[in-house]
Amino acid sequence: MEFVICKVEETENGLATFTLERNNVIIVFKNVPALVCKNCGDFYLTTKTTNMLLEKASKTIKKGVEIEVINLKPAA
Ligand SMILES: [Zn+2]
Repeated sequence: MEFVICKVEETENGLATFTLERNNVIIVFKNVPALVCKNCGDFYLTTKTTNMLLEKASKTIKKGVEIEVINLKPAA
């Protein structure tokens, strides 16, 4: 899952808030490690990060909640 809107490739490591909606469940991930575009603030998630979020999302969906906020601590 990549967001390629701006073609400027100057990105820096940062943290983003990412909202995922699946099966009528809304999950807000906070402090997601991301590559943030210096130009427009768009962020890009690596495949590894995306897979990690999807794994957490499927666990949340199984819990049967409608909305959940997951705060990921920044990597040390
Ligand atoms: Zn950009």
